[in-house]
Amino acid sequence: MNHTTKGRCGGYHSVVCIKQVPDTKKVTGDAMKADGTINRAALPAIFNPEDRNALEAALKIKEECGGTVSVITMGLPKACDILRTALMCGADRAYLLTDRAAAGSDTLATSYILSQAVRSLKPDMVFCGRQAIDGDTAQVGPQIAEKLDFAAITYLEDIEMDGDFAVATRDIGTGIEKDRVKLPALFTVTEKFGELRPMDVKRVMKYKRAKAPVENGGVALDGDLAIGQLSCADVGCEPDRCGFAGSPTNVNKIVSVVLAGGDFREVEPTEEGIGSLVAELVADHTIG
Ligand SMILES: Cc1cc2nc3c(=O)[nH]c(=O)nc-3n(C[C@H](O)[C@H](O)[C@H](O)COP(=O)(O)OP(=O)(O)OC[C@H]3O[C@@H](n4cnc5c(N)ncnc54)[C@H](O)[C@@H]3O)c2cc1C
Repeated sequence: MNHTTKGRCGGYHSVVCIKQVPDTKKVTGDAMKADGTINRAALPAIFNPEDRNALEAALKIKEECGGTVSVITMGLPKACDILRTALMCGADRAYLLTDRAAAGSDTLATSYILSQAVRSLKPDMVFCGRQAIDGDTAQVGPQIAEKLDFAAITYLEDIEMDGDFAVATRDIGTGIEKDRVKLPALFTVTEKFGELRPMDVKRVMKYKRAKAPVENGGVALDGDLAIGQLSCADVGCEPDRCGFAGSPTNVNKIVSVVLAGGDFREVEPTEEGIGSLVAELVADHTIG
């Protein structure tokens, strides 16, 4: 994809929300624990694919217009690996939000905590991936926008800046839509935006030493080698909106579904065909 920027632009602060996820393409027999939760130790941890595209969107704007790119992740200290990758690719500042109070957060609590952190960074634009490959809900980006009262533009595949506005190209399934949106705004980005640029060799040498205090015996490094470490309290979260306390979602049961050839059936793409499928699904309590 070729990206272009028209009109006046300059000095934007973009915050990119990035998540470390288990590589669900490498699922093996021991990927799930007996209690139905993910066995994270059995799967390599990677930079969520569409968050890489989101970072590329922010870096492209910085390249064309100047400004600053901050990346933030909410997760365990190990998630600093993807923060370092982002710094090596061109991000200016990195933040790890890590806190036992965030454990067990569903999308409502996750988006609340992240929105509080993003608010404290005062961005012009926020970029998220369209969805994370583990939770797969695609809810977190739009929920952050709602909490910040920012416009939310989903399925971004190109962006041009024009002063206090962004012109976003998005895929709406049946075609392409262009939206002119006033900043601040949040965008969720798909793989169609294009690959994250390669790491820069000089930045690799520099940022391989970047650390959060939690990785460095509690001591914060100086200058741009410092990965900022935040807690829920640091960003002004109310405790009862974080973690299990702030998560109304209940997972009753997780089942591993293996589809066989006979489980597929073609349905006529007509009102009659779809109507009979819906009736069947309601009758066997799959929906409804
Ligand atoms: C009851 C319940 C308990 C849970 N407990 C835990 C738990 O203890 N530990 C755990 O790890 N997960 C837990 N989860 C999963 C967790 O809630 C989701 O993974 C998380 O809310 C993000 O949702 P998602 O993966 O669907 O993200 P999506 O909505 O698909 O993500 C969209 C985009 O939002 C951004 N984003 C999402 N999450 C983060 C993040 N953490 N940091 C930065 N950016 C992000 C990224 O840009 C991402 O591409 C739990 C879920 C439920 C329902």
